[in-house]
Amino acid sequence: MKAYKPKEVTIAGHKFAIVYKKMKDYGELDSDGKKIYVSNKIKDEVLLDTIIHEGFHAMLALSGLGYILEDVQDELEEALVRAYESIMGPFLKEQYKEFYKNTIK
Ligand SMILES: [Zn+2]
Repeated sequence: MKAYKPKEVTIAGHKFAIVYKKMKDYGELDSDGKKIYVSNKIKDEVLLDTIIHEGFHAMLALSGLGYILEDVQDELEEALVRAYESIMGPFLKEQYKEFYKNTIK
């Protein structure tokens, strides 16, 4: 199986280049520069989760919701993204797996 390592992703019609580099965190979004920086030390499902995490930040930035969250409370956006990543993400993965297992022959 070919390793998962996308070079770009499209979010709401905007292309974001995935830039793999040496960095302290797993990922970082440059919303204006349309780039997602990802640590070159991670791979497989950690890489997938990181790209989804940064993709969620991109969704909030593109929609304007990020500005509102920032004004309400520092780190509210990060808390929301982490809640999605650790709770909704695994739930969705499980449900998609079940769905495709049972419907795609
Ligand atoms: Zn984050």
